[in-house]
Amino acid sequence: MVIEMVNPYDVAVHQFDEAAERLGLSQAMRAILRKPKRELIVNFPVRMDNGDVEMFTGYRVQHNINRGPAKGGIRYSPAVSLDEVRALAMWMTWKCAVVDIPFGGAKGGVICDPHLMSSAELERMTRRYTTEISLLIGPDSDIPAPDMNTNPQIMGWIMDTYSMHRGYSVPAVTTGKPLAIGGSEGRLEATARGVQVVTREAIRDKGWQPENCSVVVQGFGNVGGIAARLLHEMGCKVVGISDISGGLYNPNGINVPAAMRHSRRNGSLKGYAEADAVSNTELLELPCDILIPAALENQLTERNAPRIKARLIVEAANGPTTNEADAILNDMGVTLIPDILANAGGVTVSYFEWVQDLQRFFWAEDEINNRLEMIMKRSYKAVKAKADEQEVNMRMGAYLLAVARVAEATEIRGVYP
Ligand code: GLU
Repeated sequence: MVIEMVNPYDVAVHQFDEAAERLGLSQAMRAILRKPKRELIVNFPVRMDNGDVEMFTGYRVQHNINRGPAKGGIRYSPAVSLDEVRALAMWMTWKCAVVDIPFGGAKGGVICDPHLMSSAELERMTRRYTTEISLLIGPDSDIPAPDMNTNPQIMGWIMDTYSMHRGYSVPAVTTGKPLAIGGSEGRLEATARGVQVVTREAIRDKGWQPENCSVVVQGFGNVGGIAARLLHEMGCKVVGISDISGGLYNPNGINVPAAMRHSRRNGSLKGYAEADAVSNTELLELPCDILIPAALENQLTERNAPRIKARLIVEAANGPTTNEADAILNDMGVTLIPDILANAGGVTVSYFEWVQDLQRFFWAEDEINNRLEMIMKRSYKAVKAKADEQEVNMRMGAYLLAVARVAEATEIRGVYP
């Protein structure tokens, strides 16, 4: 998979600037909202299994906390950088505002390759990173969650480490935990479920039928894999899927549950026989009605955008489209449901998990899925209405709604002292 050398923070600031301009925000408000509120860089040692001590670098960035505690995931990847974490933190602020949940935005990351580390090494690295960023995190201040290459077990280690230092259990310090320690029903599938809801709404708005829609999904993890399964269940024909080992294409439709079983058994999609192998580059340009990038940033660029065949793009990943590609796709008449709306289902159920943890009162899965569906539908409709009213695309519609909400909270709270 190609990661373009586009700085994601530049992408995020550019998107914000356009919205700020349209909203007529004051120069002071623009200056406040452009910058992250806090940035913590931590360098810390971890003892590896062979006895050596290795240094790691991690970050936790809080972009804005005017609407509530900072919220956002932690990613483990060799490509993590401060600018990437800044961009992701800013996107979290807008994401929480689009779905109108009472959180600000944050993100964290550690530069590492989790695939080359043992579980014990990952645990020691996670616990030490948690200790280093415990200056910032807490159930009332900043609540981490899973992101790329982090999972419920890692959230459990973070929660346990934080709790050990307090001397009592603080389940609400992370979300996306295992059920046994205060996790929420439905959290694992929540992002994908949100993607499904907005895709269904967009299909309806276009007057299409799910049965007549072909779908390509890039990424087969917690978001892409489950989204592919849910869309397959909804009747769509999933013709393309991919993971780190490459892409698969079958114009007659891929049996997603069978591909999932293959991936679980073999560790990746590689070798799945019921489809042809394609490269990741080819995957994005396959003939289809709906394209769902659910992997990394900067996947749709000025280079491949003109060759995209899909008429509807649903950004399940954060920041998969560069600003240049955005403009090209817009001119091509492609409808794009932006990341800050499309993938907000995850943080929405994170909000439910946090509330359940604070109240020590847990809800049934049905209740969670129904409330998630309600919020995603409401948010989709609000973004669509804003976009139609202002005659802009869905990304700008989402930004206009979100930035206005954050600006309003920032204005009301005022400048201290
Ligand atoms: N990492 C996810 C995201 O990008 C979830 C964040 C959360 O639940 O706090 O939205």
